Amino acid sequence: ATRLSGVARAFGDRVVLDSLDLELRDGEFTALLGRSGSGKSTLLRALAGLDDEVTGKIDVTDSVAVAFQEPRLVPWKRLLANITLGLDAPADKAKAALAEVALTERSDAWPLTLSGGEAQRASLARALVREPELLLLDEPFSALDALTRITIHQLVLELWARHRPAVLLVTHDVDEALLLADRVLVLDEGRIAHDISITADRPRHREDPDLVTLRTIL
Ligand code: ATP
Ligand code: MG
Repeated sequence: ATRLSGVARAFGDRVVLDSLDLELRDGEFTALLGRSGSGKSTLLRALAGLDDEVTGKIDVTDSVAVAFQEPRLVPWKRLLANITLGLDAPADKAKAALAEVALTERSDAWPLTLSGGEAQRASLARALVREPELLLLDEPFSALDALTRITIHQLVLELWARHRPAVLLVTHDVDEALLLADRVLVLDEGRIAHDISITADRPRHREDPDLVTLRTIL
């Protein structure tokens, strides 16, 4: 499990994370909601070990993969090489990952020539191919069209079922959170302000009690 206690981060006098406590259980799919600027990406950076200045106790596995809000691909490596960058993995594995996100045709492309949605899918493939114990997804579906989004949701759920990483998915889309997650967190004022277990069977409908609760909060 991943445990955060008393985690704090400020930028100048702007306190973004304020003695935040959080436990992510193994294999659990958690969605993280919160207003723009509430600190979701800051929290993910802290979990990924990318923030030297965060304070507090962060107990997290080494096996973490992140798909950032802005896809970060290395521009001077072709797409295929980006997928398994830094890994000792065969090209087959990168190819399979690109096929899963429907990017086979773009394998040889330079990252800067990818569309926003393609870059997001590439970033997702790069995270998934690592088969991490903790998968951090920062709005990875925001630039996708509705149809591709459905396909990618399915893919993420399949991969989650197969490898069972703990997932922390940042999203602004309540329906997406309810569709994918077992648990929904709301970040506000630097802390986890709401922690809702999602119990009802999928798929959901507008009158779903969890949905109604969340709409009341947000
Ligand atoms: P969004 O939903 O828009 O992505 P977010 O919840 O991910 O928002 P963060 O990116 O975590 O928000 O930022 C939280 C706050 O901290 C914002 O006010 C942001 O401007 C500020 N912030 C983040 N990184 C820095 C930085 N390196 N220097 C100064 N301020 C920062
Ligand atoms: Mg963000």
